[in-house]
Amino acid sequence: MSAVCLILGDQLSKSISSLQGLDKANDVVLLCEVLEEATYVRHHQKKIAFIFSAMRHFSEELKSHGFLVRYVKLDDPGNTGSLEGEVRRALSKFKANRIIVTEPGEYRLLQTFKSWPNKFGITIDIGPDTRFICDIDEFKRWASGKKQLRMEYFYREMRNKYNFLMEPNGKPVGGKWNFDKENRKPPLRGMASPKRLSHKKSPITLEVLKLVRERFHDHFGALEPFHFAVTQSQALKELQHFIDEILPQFGEYQDAMVAGEPYLYHSLISSYLNAGLLLPLEVCSLAETAYRSGKAPLNAAEGFIRQILGWREYVRGIYWLHMPDYGQLNYLDAKRPLPEFYWSAQTRLFCVAEAVRHTRDHAYSHHIQRLMITGNFALLAGINPVEVCEWYLLVYSDAYEWVELPNTLGMALFADGGIMASKPYAASGKYINRMSNFCQQCHYDPLQTVGDNACPFNALYWDFLARHEDKLQVNQRLAYMYAYWHKQSTEQQLAIRKQADDTLQKMDTGNL
Ligand SMILES: Cc1cc2nc3c(=O)[nH]c(=O)nc-3n(C[C@H](O)[C@H](O)[C@H](O)COP(=O)(O)OP(=O)(O)OC[C@H]3O[C@@H](n4cnc5c(N)ncnc54)[C@H](O)[C@@H]3O)c2cc1C
Ligand code: SF4
Repeated sequence: MSAVCLILGDQLSKSISSLQGLDKANDVVLLCEVLEEATYVRHHQKKIAFIFSAMRHFSEELKSHGFLVRYVKLDDPGNTGSLEGEVRRALSKFKANRIIVTEPGEYRLLQTFKSWPNKFGITIDIGPDTRFICDIDEFKRWASGKKQLRMEYFYREMRNKYNFLMEPNGKPVGGKWNFDKENRKPPLRGMASPKRLSHKKSPITLEVLKLVRERFHDHFGALEPFHFAVTQSQALKELQHFIDEILPQFGEYQDAMVAGEPYLYHSLISSYLNAGLLLPLEVCSLAETAYRSGKAPLNAAEGFIRQILGWREYVRGIYWLHMPDYGQLNYLDAKRPLPEFYWSAQTRLFCVAEAVRHTRDHAYSHHIQRLMITGNFALLAGINPVEVCEWYLLVYSDAYEWVELPNTLGMALFADGGIMASKPYAASGKYINRMSNFCQQCHYDPLQTVGDNACPFNALYWDFLARHEDKLQVNQRLAYMYAYWHKQSTEQQLAIRKQADDTLQKMDTGNL
């Protein structure tokens, strides 16, 4: 009797635990394109094309390594449209008596996997996802008994454990753990993104693009141009290009935003890491080597490694620690519907329109646009976290629930009441004006808080603090802002709050 080894679309690594120890003569590797997964949220067209193409290439690679592969295409006759249906068909066709999987990135799927032994009357082996640096139980042990789970302390433990950027005496290289202060420069005038690699489309990719054009043309986003790497070797080329040509500037301008420049000095590797085409330890090692060989400064290498060794692992830990309740949290009781302009980019808020345009065209926008533009606006305007999270999950090519949910619900919306962030990432137009060139092209004036042309972020910012004073005033990190707010006269406060009300009304009626 044989086993069916199910590989998901974000598990495209030859080192994945489920593939280890398979009997290549008898066990079958199953990869399937199913409608249920492509539409449970209506993913961006580029995201579907990237995942299907990468899956098809991976299946060819497995075949060339001698694996017995069953690949079910979306349009294959008999495709049941669900993972469960496809596993059932494969079990019956190959008369298999065992299912082998690696733990999935979503709580929902883990529950599905756990239900299969009862449904199918056979055993299932769920192996750990060893591609992550910190396994789920290790994170739980780290979190146990701690009042606050701050990323910075988790990151230091990971640096120590994996010996990244450490001196032989156990101290961090350069005498500090974190060089973030050097990494917050505003953009320079005329700043433009360095050139990026574009990969030649294989016949497989062309076929997938045709499929997505036919079947998912009503999903959000532009399908073409399509530049994604879809194999491990292409993803490694992109990573190497980033390390050689772009990493040196990554640090300083990490938070900068420039109109028409979605990428700046960011690595664009999240989709590859999250789908399994790249592995986090290999990425961090290359960045460290670049620093040690004098090719990248410490603030850039440390900043980059922190994102992967620290943030990426930390958000995954938070997700598994708090699911399934985490997805329902709404600490600030935010209830407004998501404005239409998150889809159409039709708004006079230039910064939001620009972030949505980048998202629509590239299935990408960089961290500060996600956090301080679309996330910040949704936070200040009190948009329902469920709607915001669904938007983030479907619009980005790197989005899977384990990483999207803590970042959106926790970091951007403070809907978890401070599990992820020590204070809400709320900011007025002043911040956006400092860190971007957006305001120069905007209908609104970032220096005004009240009046017809006042930047909506300004009144919304103060209104947000006033609205949530009962919950937020105890936060020491907001003490200065509350002191400033209380120094304003009653008339000023009322005028600002009325401006915020008017702004929200304009938003609700599509006039912002
Ligand atoms: C509201 C919101 C939603 C987000 N949703 C996702 C998501 O669905 N998927 C996703 O991969 N990232 C998400 N992020 C984190 C981050 O914005 C992206 O990882 C990053 O923009 C990807 O672009 P890049 O590869 O060019 O990253 P770079 O800026 O070059 O960073 C390098 C790598 O660090 C990792 N990283 C950096 N920050 C984070 C973080 N906060 N969480 C996890 N990994 C991080 C990523 O793997 C990234 O590729 C979100 C952030 C916010 C604020
Ligand atoms: S003025 Fe306000 S709305 Fe316009 S781009 Fe600047 S921050 Fe955004």
